[in-house]
Amino acid sequence: MYQIRLFAVRHSRAFEWIYKRVEAGLVWMDPVFSRIGYNRVERPIALIEKGVKSLLFDCRMCGQCVLSSTGMSCPMNCPKQLRNGPCGGVRPGGFCEVKPEMRCVWVLAWDGASRMEGGQQICDVLPPVERNLQGSSSWLRVSREKAANLRAARQAARTALAETFPEARSHEPSTAPLAEEPKRALRGSEVK
Ligand code: SF4
Repeated sequence: MYQIRLFAVRHSRAFEWIYKRVEAGLVWMDPVFSRIGYNRVERPIALIEKGVKSLLFDCRMCGQCVLSSTGMSCPMNCPKQLRNGPCGGVRPGGFCEVKPEMRCVWVLAWDGASRMEGGQQICDVLPPVERNLQGSSSWLRVSREKAANLRAARQAARTALAETFPEARSHEPSTAPLAEEPKRALRGSEVK
């Protein structure tokens, strides 16, 4: 397992690419999930997520995945579960002070982040873990939020023009009179 974790860090860019596709797929599935009910799909998706991520990253299902910000090195594998950088006890060679056989997850995180497109995110300060999300699907929560934001943006774009037009007309009312009706059209109405 540890070797697979190291492999994931070495190929962090590929995993970043894959994750973006998975997320886009889940966002695309939003209408289906909404119809079925997110609470119903939560469990099966959490199980899939757990299976995949436990194998690749030794995931502990904290429910607030930060792998995209930590070079695909899960910070929950830190014996102190530090989410914002290493403690002061990193040994020479980048090994953990609590588990000397293991490299510090933050040393690996820095290495993985240096290969990723969004690698600069490692400098962002992460919020503390919300323990009530433990065991839930991070994939589903994030994709659901993105889908909701996209829906709101689409709705705003649809209504923006309609809302802007009356306001624009009140600022600049039309000064040109309407064109006269063509005589032919008037004759046509007389015939009727
Ligand atoms: S950050 Fe949380 S969800 Fe992501 S791999 Fe680690 S334990 Fe799992």
